[in-house]
Amino acid sequence: MQLIILGSGSPIPAPDRAGPATLVRTSAGDLLFDAGRGVLLRATSALSGAVAFAAVFLTHLHSDHTTDLNDLVTTRWAMSLTPNPLRVIGPVGTAGLVAATEAMLELDTGYRLAHHDDLEWRPATVATDVTEGVVFEEGDVRVLAAATDHAPVHPTVGYRVEDRGRSVVIAGDTVPCAGLDRLAAGADVLVHTVVRRDQIEALGIPRLLDVLGYHSAAPDAAATAERAGVGTLVLTHMVPPVQPGSEQEWVDQAAAVFGGTIVLAEDLTTVDPAPAART
Ligand SMILES: [Zn+2]
Repeated sequence: MQLIILGSGSPIPAPDRAGPATLVRTSAGDLLFDAGRGVLLRATSALSGAVAFAAVFLTHLHSDHTTDLNDLVTTRWAMSLTPNPLRVIGPVGTAGLVAATEAMLELDTGYRLAHHDDLEWRPATVATDVTEGVVFEEGDVRVLAAATDHAPVHPTVGYRVEDRGRSVVIAGDTVPCAGLDRLAAGADVLVHTVVRRDQIEALGIPRLLDVLGYHSAAPDAAATAERAGVGTLVLTHMVPPVQPGSEQEWVDQAAAVFGGTIVLAEDLTTVDPAPAART
């Protein structure tokens, strides 16, 4: 099993950070978690891509986590030589979002069907709305979902991927909550979106202050990781964007409450899950 942060960015555009997306390489194939801005560019760098994904999981339907879903649908369809439905799993609302995406692509679908004689099928998706429990099972791989807390955005879910004794948890956007605690318990790696409370409060911009209520600051994510006893905490989706030279501040804020390994993600940061080595 291998974890690759495809996009470490947030809704705020940044030249070197794609939108939220995480790839988990498993014995059952590549699993993608969220489909933010530029996901297929980074997937290509990781030698993966739209045709390769065994399934796509959405943590929630905020646009920064779903904006390139249309690119996945079209690219998989146009690059597959036989019908190859894209499996999409996410919180309630996901099936509707996927149907609306296919409707949005209707003109393009028509152009390509009319142009390519060998393309005799439409883009295909299998979308499933999920809440709790096992949501994917193939070979040795199991993915579990649990409700997270990103209120007022509802519903939202986190995921735990298990494969041959290793485990990775994708928290998505959430404040500390019981669902995430259950999911993360004893995991090798926890991937958690984070914000900087001190910097956002100092900026004092109302729309930015709003995000403090439904995101975890680095110490909050670290406290979850500590309670769960995970081995490695990966911080991603940093808001505001990480200022050059300030990387260690983010790590230090988390290290004050978490004794495991801390990784401040960049695009294509790669982690090989391993048993916890706690200090
Ligand atoms: Zn969100």
